[in-house]
Amino acid sequence: MTIDKDMVVSIHYTLKNDNDEIMDSSEGRDPLAYIHGYGYLIPGLEEQLNGKKAGDSLNALVKPEDGYGLRDDTLVHKVPKANFKGDGELTAGMQVKVETNDGGKIAVVKSVSGEEVVLDLNHPLSGMNLHFAVQVKDVREATKEELDHGHVHGPGGHQH
Ligand code: ZN
Repeated sequence: MTIDKDMVVSIHYTLKNDNDEIMDSSEGRDPLAYIHGYGYLIPGLEEQLNGKKAGDSLNALVKPEDGYGLRDDTLVHKVPKANFKGDGELTAGMQVKVETNDGGKIAVVKSVSGEEVVLDLNHPLSGMNLHFAVQVKDVREATKEELDHGHVHGPGGHQH
């Protein structure tokens, strides 16, 4: 069976940046299982998985436009440190949850100086070329129930 819309696909993957640093990996976990064709994965990766089958390996390079988007400098904000009372010591590189007009988001602390904190609300993987090494472990048709629920049941998916 080949990967197409409405197939349940299980993959192992390792994601590296341009400097060959590992940013994410499914190693040591269950394979990632998802229903293909619904944007569960970033578009550039789903597209390159089309037509692959169980046992296939591929290296997929995904540009920021087809991944987590380009960086947006308007998403970098200076906020008073006093807003973070009770959250412990803030340090650069740390991730904090913030309330925005679009709801709760994860922001990365870029710097802390005096009473001012610089927060970056861009996705941590935005603006990056993404180098995926993917192994396709399994491909099967989604059940009607899975399509109704919009998620995978069983190993790597929902247990209910
Ligand atoms: Zn379900």
